[in-house]
Amino acid sequence: MGKIFLEIITPDRVVVSREVDMVVVPGVEGEFGVLEDHVAFLSGVVPGELRYTVNGKTEYCAVMEGFAEVSNNKVSILVDAAERAEEIDVERAKRALERAKERLEKKEGVDIARAEAAFRRAMARLKVAEKVRG
Ligand code: ATP
Repeated sequence: MGKIFLEIITPDRVVVSREVDMVVVPGVEGEFGVLEDHVAFLSGVVPGELRYTVNGKTEYCAVMEGFAEVSNNKVSILVDAAERAEEIDVERAKRALERAKERLEKKEGVDIARAEAAFRRAMARLKVAEKVRG
């Protein structure tokens, strides 16, 4: 199988930069997969699980909001934040989830959109962390 180059970049750091066999990205219109010779493509990215396969082994990342660009066998993911599954602090994500839930239950005086976004980020991290911790 032909390789594609995957880059996951945040304002702080390069999270992944390597050749892979395939990538599955959480896009605004659902997950999409990229293999060699994919057509050029631009999509929004939503908080969720990004996975890629290298020599039959699948690795997982949590990605937050941003964009994906596919062009010339390169996938560039530009997101607010991203972590490889092993880097995720599960307790921190649980605390963030609890905070978001409390805010959403309170309703009054709460920025609902912001609380919902925090909720989705925490859920994405917990889902991805489970992949390596069971
Ligand atoms: P929190 O309220 O815990 O800060 P958040 O969703 O507001 O969560 P972000 O704004 O998405 O956090 O991320 C800020 C920085 O913290 C980023 O560098 C991100 O990679 C890192 N980060 C956030 N949550 C975690 C986590 N559970 N484990 C590891 N890194 C995290």
